[in-house]
Amino acid sequence: MSYVQSLTCRECARAYPAGALHACEFCFGPLEVSYDYEAMGAALTRERISAGPPDIWRYGDLLPVDADGPVSLGAGFTPLVRADRLAAELGLGELWVKDDTRNPTGSFKDRVVTVALTKARELGFKVAACASTGNLANSVAAHAARAGMRSVVLVPSDLEAVKMLTTAVFGGDLLAVEGSYDDVNRLCAELASEHDDWAFVNVNVRPYYAEGSKTLAFEVAEQLGWRLPDHVVVPIASGSQLTKIDKGFRELVELGLVEARIDREDTSGPVRVSGAQAAGCAPVAAAFAAGADHVRPVKAATIAKSLAIGNPADGWYALEVVRRTGGAVGSVSDEEVLKAIRLLARTEGIFAETAGGVTIATLAALAREGVVRGDETVVAYVTGNGLKTVEAFGSSVGATATVAARIEDVAEALGESAWKEPM
Ligand SMILES: *Cc1c(COP(=O)(O)O)cnc(C)c1O
Ligand SMILES: [Zn+2]
Repeated sequence: MSYVQSLTCRECARAYPAGALHACEFCFGPLEVSYDYEAMGAALTRERISAGPPDIWRYGDLLPVDADGPVSLGAGFTPLVRADRLAAELGLGELWVKDDTRNPTGSFKDRVVTVALTKARELGFKVAACASTGNLANSVAAHAARAGMRSVVLVPSDLEAVKMLTTAVFGGDLLAVEGSYDDVNRLCAELASEHDDWAFVNVNVRPYYAEGSKTLAFEVAEQLGWRLPDHVVVPIASGSQLTKIDKGFRELVELGLVEARIDREDTSGPVRVSGAQAAGCAPVAAAFAAGADHVRPVKAATIAKSLAIGNPADGWYALEVVRRTGGAVGSVSDEEVLKAIRLLARTEGIFAETAGGVTIATLAALAREGVVRGDETVVAYVTGNGLKTVEAFGSSVGATATVAARIEDVAEALGESAWKEPM
């Protein structure tokens, strides 16, 4: 049984029954899932959650579907890794990396898709569709296969070859569209009005899809021993994930599952939330820097293709969260992104895709500026696996040297004399 009360308009607060609906019929504002927190709070305990499965469905009570028999490949409950060596390099203290590279299809998108397709199946849909910058494509194709649904996935034709292959392999329809993600998204919105019998995960079932990102907050709190971090750094594409991480932390406080930190009781956000963007696609960072109320669309040009949304649907709401909680939005160059991927790999043994590089490079920049502080408990969300974006490196990372199979050649390549004093 789910605790969903209604879909509620984020602009005018009108309520709708929880069906396949994403925009307010009155003001066209986006709809969000509302719950009966009183009933939920009476039933939900830390113990009940801990006894659940080792994936996001342990938080099924906080999700907008009946969790019996979800469409699942086991998304979530990924490691929260204490990152002391990275912290030392960045001049930080208690730093954690949420390692979402370790999801079934290698990105955090599995969290949102398992919720979206479970709901889609519940609503009677037979086809799952989406517009994607790559990771969503992988995840929709895989989960549709798992559910025995047909999938129709649309992506920009310049996508990384790996993401094409790892979508196509699941046997659904994959359409490479000549244009940017924003063109693909517009096309998808048009398609959605023609095919109301298809579940478009980021259009007509978007309110449900988006809720899956709350589990990134739930897991961090549980893995810290039912404690909130002080500050989190989150990558921004559409901005949905960032807004839902904030919602997740607020729900935990509301339900009494964690205590609000004493020093933050007077603010309306229990955890500071900062956003990360690539300089080649930084509409939210630009609005933040300018103190603007409006997110102006940009044309995206960055190696961080999974974040390359020039016209972010939730950009304004992300900005609102960052301002309310006392965070910031930073942006970093592609060169910094590649350096940060190598820094994370070298210090913690985690290989992130370009979006993870954006997060770590932005964390470094915010630490330099004193926005992220050494006395805070900090969590950086690393949301995708490096094997997906190896192309971004070209030939700049490779073997130290090619040597003959002779010990002298090895020593020479390593810059050692034949005999080295033991260290
Ligand atoms: C989609 C994506 C994000 C951010 O998604 P939002 O649209 O902002 O919710 C972050 N990281 C990766 C790897 C992604 O694929
Ligand atoms: Zn409305």
